[in-house]
Amino acid sequence: VDFLKVLEDNGLTRKDRRLEILFRKLDQLSTESFDFPTFLSIIQTVAPLIERMLRGALALPDFANLSAELIRIYRDVELNEEGQQATYIPPLAEVNPDQCGLALVTTDGQLLELGDSEVDFSIQSACKPFNYCFALDELGAEKVHRHIGMEPSGQPFNARVLMSDGTGRPHNPMINAGAIMTAALIQTDQPLHRRLEHVRNTWGKLTGGSIPRFNAWMAQEESRTGDNNRALGYMMKSAGVMPHGEDAVDHELRDALELYFSVCSLEVTARELATAAATLANNGICRVTQERGVDERTVRNCLTLMQMCGMYDASGQFSVRICLTAKSGVGGAVFLIVPRLMGVCVWSPRLDRIGNSVRGVDFATRLADAYRLHLYDGLASRSARIDPRMPAARWRAEQTSLALRAASLGDVRTLRCMLDEQANL
Ligand code: GLU
Repeated sequence: VDFLKVLEDNGLTRKDRRLEILFRKLDQLSTESFDFPTFLSIIQTVAPLIERMLRGALALPDFANLSAELIRIYRDVELNEEGQQATYIPPLAEVNPDQCGLALVTTDGQLLELGDSEVDFSIQSACKPFNYCFALDELGAEKVHRHIGMEPSGQPFNARVLMSDGTGRPHNPMINAGAIMTAALIQTDQPLHRRLEHVRNTWGKLTGGSIPRFNAWMAQEESRTGDNNRALGYMMKSAGVMPHGEDAVDHELRDALELYFSVCSLEVTARELATAAATLANNGICRVTQERGVDERTVRNCLTLMQMCGMYDASGQFSVRICLTAKSGVGGAVFLIVPRLMGVCVWSPRLDRIGNSVRGVDFATRLADAYRLHLYDGLASRSARIDPRMPAARWRAEQTSLALRAASLGDVRTLRCMLDEQANL
């Protein structure tokens, strides 16, 4: 067996910090082959992971086949040149719109990267779920939701509307008003620069140590063009819903807005965003460090609200069609979370009319067409879509035995169902 090939086929790469020692030991070997005791010493630091891999029990057991299919999908998606990148500020308008990066990270740390997966991009609204997580972890849901609702607004992300339930809260943390309020809740006893440092460092807990870069030019431009966000802030202040109420100290709102602009101006790569997403998919525990990045209840709240409100005004149609927990930003990022399985990030700057990355949505659509990932796919009893959690051989065997059994019993109804679902009889 070619051990390096097995690692590669399973998406365990040199970029995985857990495998540093293993690869070092492999590199130091003077021979092409080794005996079993040497093998044991090589895998010593990651033995449970390697054991799971060899048993075919990693999150994506058929990683090689899945990768081949995703590469095909990616190539098709790359041809899609529809849409237009954000132009409201120069640092976004000047990005090369042809770029496209994809990263997939499983809850076991398997990694697939394609295209510009290592290029920094502006996180923009894709920061919102994370800020919400950080606020929840700091203050708890009860306190946070005294200031932010949990309802879809039915309005564009930057609309000047607040909840009409008498509280004047922003509808949810995934739209601008809610994200400004989230910023107003984070580390309020600290000076502004510390609050930004706190957000960046907390990101490090989700990515296994990578800290997002801060683009000062972007933040300056966000602030220069940020009057609508200021208006949202003042609406919340006058509604008395800011943490310090109606007589919010003057700098409270100013700082919240600056923090919001700054956090929107952080830069990450598709791999980092997919890794953070995988941490959320893994119930808040970062696979690289095995440490908890965010609380379990926090993850639950965050994913629920992402599901409802993550894709701007297309959140409903995205849910029905694809039903993957997702969030996008005008920098061109779309990230997806499949609980207990993986995080995926597609970044490509051209946006559709609603503000979602065209290629991001295209990829998600094709992914959900090819694989059984839609949250309610399980309800359609026998879908021809492949369940990526299962080795392909087992899945095919199940389909075959189902067909044979139905045929032997004269169960035409089941066979018809299989045909309807495009099973290859
Ligand atoms: N910085 C943007 C704004 O506040 C965020 C845009 C977005 O990605 O939704 O308008």
